[in-house]
Amino acid sequence: MKIYNTLSKRKEEFVPVEPGKVKMYVCGPTVYNFIHIGNARPMIVFDTVRRYFEYKGYEVNYVSNFTDVDDKIIKKAIEEGVDADAISKRYIAECKKDMEGMNVKPATKHPLATEEICGMLDMISMLIEKGYAYVAGDGTVYFRVRRFKDYGKLSHKNLDELQSGFREIKVTGEEGKEDPNDFVLWKPKKEGEPYWESPWCEGRPGWHIECSVMAKRYLGEEIDIHAGGEDLIFPHHENEIAQSEAANGKTFAKYWMHNAFLNIDNKKMSKSLGNFFTVREISEKYDLQVLRFFMLSAHYRSPLNFSAELMEASKNGLDRILTGVEKLKEAWEKGAEGALSAEEAENKKKALELVEKYERAMDDDFNTADAISAVFELVKLGNSTTEGASRAYAGFLKETLVHLCDVMGILTERREEILDSEIEDMIAQRQAARKEKNFALADAIREKLLAQGIVLEDTREGVKWRQA
Ligand code: AMP
Ligand code: ZN
Repeated sequence: MKIYNTLSKRKEEFVPVEPGKVKMYVCGPTVYNFIHIGNARPMIVFDTVRRYFEYKGYEVNYVSNFTDVDDKIIKKAIEEGVDADAISKRYIAECKKDMEGMNVKPATKHPLATEEICGMLDMISMLIEKGYAYVAGDGTVYFRVRRFKDYGKLSHKNLDELQSGFREIKVTGEEGKEDPNDFVLWKPKKEGEPYWESPWCEGRPGWHIECSVMAKRYLGEEIDIHAGGEDLIFPHHENEIAQSEAANGKTFAKYWMHNAFLNIDNKKMSKSLGNFFTVREISEKYDLQVLRFFMLSAHYRSPLNFSAELMEASKNGLDRILTGVEKLKEAWEKGAEGALSAEEAENKKKALELVEKYERAMDDDFNTADAISAVFELVKLGNSTTEGASRAYAGFLKETLVHLCDVMGILTERREEILDSEIEDMIAQRQAARKEKNFALADAIREKLLAQGIVLEDTREGVKWRQA
């Protein structure tokens, strides 16, 4: 298997740290709102990487954090007049619902920054002891970037170039820095913010330290894969390397994988630009399987532009696969027992070649786009050979197709999930029926929704619905 490594800027053969095992860490979201579909890209991509390793027989230990202490969470908590904890808990729960909808498997462990403060204090102390970090007058602890000789090796940046870029910029509150490139490991609390005791000041951690600490605690000092979106290469991952390698004296991660952006109108989809759709919004229009299929239709290192047309194309593509599976299932149910005909044996060979094609694509830095085209060829083969097929042949094709889809997290059973937009439509139809005094129709609509687990409540503000 070959993986493109951001560190070496080339594809490298995958050799695990420990035979048969894959230890991977994927930087997760900051939880202050619903996740947007840009955040969903790394979730779907690296869940697929995990599934493919499992298909290959590896035991995968997959760790992905939730950043639950951060300026944006605190700001939102102040706006709502609640604790920061209430905000992060709410959006972790919502994020997990979205992950389930996208068929993203829960990580082996989802650590929370606020539950790992002890480990962070330990690592920061160790960095100070070794001379890699220092305490400024106000109690802020900074990482001494120039002390770490490999700084810049991931982002391929040169410290002196960085330095000249910084020369003009004086950041207030950071006067205690020895060098503009130094970054925060621990900072003093501000009024009204959550804080923890530490040897340096009451305060909270910088963003980068959490990942170094969690990766070490749950995966060990040397891991196989560290991943995230490409915006994390610098400074986040560069700083994680500096912290971990300075503290542990070992190579932190062997392979660094980064997905390209999900764009809209060729600009990065992001909360700060306001050009985003949340996963929840998309789920009102589409089954989230369509979103997953859309993400996997491009290679993870290629930018992907979001558009209604591409989502429709993904919906149709996915539908073609599901229909193919249904047809094979039918053929399998009514197919005659007995051995494969000579023609079927030939076609089985073709199917096995397509499995190889699929694996070749996935082995080549997880080329899901080419893997999906092998799946489509398999669907085509199925569609043209199911008429009068034997049970064994139809069963083999069906199982193969289902298995290859499963490796990409694509469900092949149609989900009878009802979309929010469909519920709203049915409520509108029921209201119209009531207006026309067609109570039988109104009741029938209510019953139909109830059968799908949706309860309607007539309130003074109008009709409300909830899951039963
Ligand atoms: P954040 O909550 O901003 O830290 O982002 C969580 C994850 O989503 C990180 O791995 C980011 O790199 C990734 N991410 C954010 N926006 C996008 C985007 N538009 N396209 C792809 N990945 C993104
Ligand atoms: Zn991280």
